[in-house]
Amino acid sequence: MQKIERISNRIVYLPPYEETDRPILAAVAGDKKTILIDAGNSSKHANLFLKQLEELHIRGDFLALTHSDWDHIFGMSTIDIETIAHYKTQEKIKKLKELSWEDKFLDQRVEEGTEIPFCAEAIKKELGNQREVFLPIPDITFDKKMSINLGGVTAVIEHVGGDHADDCTVIYIPEEKVLFLGDCMYANLYSKKWSYTIANTLQLVEQLEKYDANIFFLSHHDKPVYKEEFQFRIKFLKDTAFLTKKYSGNQNAIIKEVSKELQRKLNAEEMEIIECFVNGYVTE
Ligand SMILES: [Zn+2]
Repeated sequence: MQKIERISNRIVYLPPYEETDRPILAAVAGDKKTILIDAGNSSKHANLFLKQLEELHIRGDFLALTHSDWDHIFGMSTIDIETIAHYKTQEKIKKLKELSWEDKFLDQRVEEGTEIPFCAEAIKKELGNQREVFLPIPDITFDKKMSINLGGVTAVIEHVGGDHADDCTVIYIPEEKVLFLGDCMYANLYSKKWSYTIANTLQLVEQLEKYDANIFFLSHHDKPVYKEEFQFRIKFLKDTAFLTKKYSGNQNAIIKEVSKELQRKLNAEEMEIIECFVNGYVTE
């Protein structure tokens, strides 16, 4: 079972769990109010988080959602506090409310191509036979950006979009120099083949570059990422976007130039990112 970790006086997080696609959950505690980040992928997941928060005497006042993917919202009714979401996230949740999560419906959506096999499997594993999912409609919505004074610390919630989902939102804690990225840096997993597009990537990178932070949380990464690695990742996305354009999506040419620049062979994750850009270029 995942165990809460503390990164500062004010911030704790529950690490992700790949097997059933549980993302990172976090709490930022101010002197007056506490904000929780993401609701988890089930009541079980949310309860695990709440129980460990209770042991630390932390109680959430607000819940901020990073986007509407199932694994970030299915624990909402269990957390049951005032929920903040981008207006597009709210719209998507309204649509998700109409869906059923039993095997036959999940399998049907996988067949139609509206659900990913990996998510369907993770949902089955995580929820077991409890496939009733109650999704409350988020209470507070915003368009571009909003901020909450928690007392001695601020939560800046900003919409950034990107290929992963157009409602992707980040939560920035300026006083702590911490940025919660949700899934915004990941590829579009709902396209026929996983993809990044040049335009969305450059737009996203431009937004992310402006945050002055030292610690970054990607929702499905085991550990937080520090500044140097974050900057490398951002540059890698940006360079690959430009090279995809320069070489009209020629995968080998892109790999060759990136690896020449880095003076080493690319690792599996880097190769996958390039492949996603090539996929995105073909369909662009
Ligand atoms: Zn996601």
